[in-house]
Order: sequence, then C-alpha cells, then structure tokens
Amino acid sequence: MGGDEFVLLVNQVHDVRELESIFGKIETAISAPITLSNGQTVRVGLSAGVALFPQHNSDNPDILLRLADQALYASKEYKQQRTRFWAMHGSPVNVQLNTAQKALGAEGLVVCYQPIVEVKTGQTRAVEALARLQNSDGRLLMPEQFLPQLNTQDLFELTRQVLAQALTDLSRLDRLGIEIEVSINLHPRVIVDAYIPALQAQIARSPIAPTRITFEILEGGSFDEQQHALAHLIALRQQGVQLALDDVGSAYSSLQRMRDLPVNKIKLDQTFVRNLARQPNDINFVRSIQKLA
Ligand SMILES: [Mg+2]
Repeated sequence: MGGDEFVLLVNQVHDVRELESIFGKIETAISAPITLSNGQTVRVGLSAGVALFPQHNSDNPDILLRLADQALYASKEYKQQRTRFWAMHGSPVNVQLNTAQKALGAEGLVVCYQPIVEVKTGQTRAVEALARLQNSDGRLLMPEQFLPQLNTQDLFELTRQVLAQALTDLSRLDRLGIEIEVSINLHPRVIVDAYIPALQAQIARSPIAPTRITFEILEGGSFDEQQHALAHLIALRQQGVQLALDDVGSAYSSLQRMRDLPVNKIKLDQTFVRNLARQPNDINFVRSIQKLA
C-alpha cells in the first residue's frame, strides 16, 4: 500500500479461528531470522488490523481498508501489552495487564501520608498523599517500580483514586476536629483535556474546600503542549486548588518553568536538604531558592 504497509485479502473466512491460523503462519514466516550479507542476523515484527465483510457492514472497499487501518493503529498503540500482533476493527485490543495495572484495577491502592510540619511550631499543617500499589501476593510496589508500568489512562486512574481517598480521609479528620491540608502528586501527562476537568469535578463534589488541596506537579517529563497544560493549571488555580512545583533542582526542573507556571509553592529536591546538618554550605543554595520563590 505504501512504505512498509501491505494489504492481505482473505476470501471465504467463516470463522475468526480461521484467521488465527492464517495469522499464525504469517507471523512464523515474517518473524523468522534473516541473515544479512555481513553475517548479522535480524528479525522483523509486524502489526495488523482486520476488517471483515459483511460483518463490518460495508461493501465499499475503501471504507473496509480504512476500518482495517484504524484497527492497525489500535494494535500498534498497545505494542508493549498486546497478546497478539493483530487487532480486529470494533473489538478492544487483547492486552495483558502488567503487575501495576492489575493492582490498580483490583483496589490495590494504599495511600500513605507523609506529614508536612511547620518548623516554627512543630505542628503538622498538611500531609502529602503517597501512592503505593499492593500486589495480589501482598507485596507493596513503590512509585519507582509501578510508575514506569502505567500508561496515561492508568496515571489518571491512580490520581483519581488517590484524590478520592484523600478527600474521604480529610473529611474523617475534620469530624475529629483536626483540619489539615493535603498534597497530591500530579503527573505532567495527566494535565490534558481528557483528565483535568474530571479531577476538578471530583473536587467540586467533595465537601472539602479546594484551597485545602495542593497538586504537586512531578518533574520527569517536558510539558509537550505547554500552552495547553498551562490553561489547565490556571483553571485549577481559579477553582481554588493550590499548585506546587515538586523536586525543584532535580534533573528536569528549570528556572523557566519556575517563572512561567502559576505555582503557589516550590518544593526543593531532597538532595538539597537531606544533608543540611552535615553540609552547612548548602544553606546558601536553599536561601537563594527561597528568595527566588
Ligand atoms: Mg511530591
């Protein structure tokens, strides 16, 4: 069809199992190792999309091709998780959930709260909600273990669940006469049209005032569509939610970001404060950042 794309027309298919057998042969043939003239051995993989006539209700070949193309892209999107190389138009791609996704889907979220203490009074003013995922075997996965396993939709689901738990726990503490604020980590990939309005609605439905919630924007990625992200951050601020820039001073943060984002707080990366007692010179850096803030 063009580039590395091919079309296969299969006649008289009565059953999807027939397709499976055909695709099995194709996969075996295509994935066989190829020896190059320099002696190096390479393999190629493939992705495929399927549209069926008459099931997919079109006798127009162009439309059938387009449906197959859509299925092909769906299959490519799940390259890491799919259980077979091909996808059928109109059916979800068969995927194998990884450990973190299984835990997230099976109410495996555990929220741990780290107190944020005011140095002058020694009082706990706020807590940071830290997500852990509990495996089916009871093992707790830490963020550095589970975050790489989650796609954007999963990251949103994680944020939604952490927020729900935090709002519930804050209400519970309110009833005990303990009024504190909560910080929740927000991955940059979640700051898009599809998710931020949903989080705002979740906050609006809760009796907890938005001003008691801080979203900590995690470093670890560039804001690809910065203008779009910025609009969402401004909308959150307008709702009353506070924003913090997290891990400032670590690999990805920049002064430009500190200047441009509508944040209320900045959180220094722990490497700058952890050894403050032993390396008193670090205080100069901390003071400078404080001034900048
Ligand atoms: Mg944080």
